[in-house]
Amino acid sequence: MMIDRETRKRLFEAVARRVIASADQLTDLDRAIGDGDHGTNMRRGFEAVLAAADELSAKALGESLKGVGTTLVMKVGGASGPLYGTLFLALGKSLADDVSREQITEALAGAIEAVKARGKSDVGQKTMLDVFFPVLAVLREGGEGLPARLKTAAKSAAENTIPMRAIRGRASFLGERSIGHMDPGAWSSALIVDAVADVMEGVA
Ligand code: ADP
Ligand code: MG
Repeated sequence: MMIDRETRKRLFEAVARRVIASADQLTDLDRAIGDGDHGTNMRRGFEAVLAAADELSAKALGESLKGVGTTLVMKVGGASGPLYGTLFLALGKSLADDVSREQITEALAGAIEAVKARGKSDVGQKTMLDVFFPVLAVLREGGEGLPARLKTAAKSAAENTIPMRAIRGRASFLGERSIGHMDPGAWSSALIVDAVADVMEGVA
């Protein structure tokens, strides 16, 4: 499939708008088990992405994804800034404009490994990884109705962080008390996947 300039712009804008629109919700989640800044952090970063969407998408897919990553590293802050930055920078490493699902799958697998290395974290620790990992599995399967299945997987993966105990990030300071709340970074990751799937379905 061809991810041309216009598609890149639509992707970046859809993701940015979704995150910005959900900032208050992300902050509420972070207030319960963190320091209540996840929405503000993400809104700041994605407002910068939205403002630069035209310029970013003018570059080839790999370079434009790296541009998004750099913007997030510079603007988001907190723990999530460097981690989302790493994710997008790693995604941009290997992707050409004309990409197959297999190539996107491998790029996401590599990006997840990069986030793990950067965060010294793994699946099952109540973080954004608990969304990207199951999403990767669905992407790898491919097949009919992929965008809708990606959305369902992302949402239920975020919900599955509710009974988890946080082992990484600020929420881990709460120990047992982190149980019973959705991880804010898992929800922002689900929103990003949902917005990408909307563009895949041609509705955004
Ligand atoms: P901070 O925790 O510095 O206030 P944010 O509130 O912006 O940063 O982001 C918190 C989110 O970042 C968490 O909900 C979690 O999903 C993610 N996160 C934190 N630490 C890690 C880590 N080591 N590995 C993966 N994700 C992490
Ligand atoms: Mg926070």
